[in-house]
Amino acid sequence: MKANQDFEVIIIGGSYAGLSAGMALGRSLRKVLIIDSGKPCNRQTPHSHNFITQDGKAPGVIAAEAKRQVEQYDTVMFYDGLASGGAKTESGFRIKTESGDTFSGRKLIFATGVSDLMPDIPGFSECWGISVLHCPYCHGYEVRNEATGILGNGETGYDFSKLISNWTKDLTLFTNGKSTLSRDQTEKLGEHGITIAEAEIEALTHKKGRIENIVFKGGAQQPVRAMYARVPFVQHCEVPAQLGCELTELGHIKVDAMQKTSIPGVFACGDSTTMMRSVANAVATGNFAGAVVNSELIQEAF
Ligand SMILES: Cc1cc2nc3c(=O)[nH]c(=O)nc-3n(C[C@H](O)[C@H](O)[C@H](O)COP(=O)(O)OP(=O)(O)OC[C@H]3O[C@@H](n4cnc5c(N)ncnc54)[C@H](O)[C@@H]3O)c2cc1C
Repeated sequence: MKANQDFEVIIIGGSYAGLSAGMALGRSLRKVLIIDSGKPCNRQTPHSHNFITQDGKAPGVIAAEAKRQVEQYDTVMFYDGLASGGAKTESGFRIKTESGDTFSGRKLIFATGVSDLMPDIPGFSECWGISVLHCPYCHGYEVRNEATGILGNGETGYDFSKLISNWTKDLTLFTNGKSTLSRDQTEKLGEHGITIAEAEIEALTHKKGRIENIVFKGGAQQPVRAMYARVPFVQHCEVPAQLGCELTELGHIKVDAMQKTSIPGVFACGDSTTMMRSVANAVATGNFAGAVVNSELIQEAF
């Protein structure tokens, strides 16, 4: 890949959202560069679910097939590496990579996802995406009716417990310290047979990411087959912030209904923009962003 080239569109992030935008733009005859550092958030998950036609396939298999299809469009080029800097220019934007290459584009699409921050509990990150789960729509069916934990407290822990009770009745809410649920919430969980365990968690024991026990400080253990957790996150890519793209209160890139960020000419899609994290949504928003960018380029040139 030759550096210092000019593109109509630079897409940063070449996973589901970025490839989907790339396909829409390739099919619109646009000269596009997709820069990708190869670290999608679901890379530790053995099987991806709930995306029609691809249910149960390995995440990497889905992404590789998507890339193979986008590569068919010869105006779309790929660059393996990290975009580390961005600046506004007279005609658009300049993107610099970690290896020092520079590219310019009239429009930018960020499909860079988020980085999940693992809590300081030994065993947690090894189980992430395998038996410690972020979403029941993605993985709940596979562990239905199993002994399941939820790591959470207060309003979030209560809401998550309510949701997960759809998939299993053998449910414990681990508050990892004193419960902050209201008395009504505690009673309601009790009515549904959901136990609350307040002991502090020392570690998770597991075999190759398959959780076996929650170990509490003091040594007591509780066996579970799955645990759900909502972990904090940060934007995977710092370039939108460098360019001045506004973030929402929750930390997503702020976009309007057309996937436009607060900076004209800069678009974003996929996980970086929403708490609705799924391959289907990443593909849908990427596809739409691609069409909107193409339409904006037509409007400007016609
Ligand atoms: C553990 C786990 C399991 C999941 N399981 C499922 C499931 O079963 N079914 C389902 O539908 N959804 C699942 N999801 C959600 C799904 O994985 C995401 O919604 C989806 O990956 C989002 O796609 P994306 O393209 O927006 O971001 P990502 O897939 O996270 O990809 C972002 C890409 O951008 C690249 N990137 C970031 N910054 C830069 C930069 N500066 N320069 C270059 N490249 C950069 C990254 O390397 C990465 O390749 C799961 C999520 C997690 C965390």
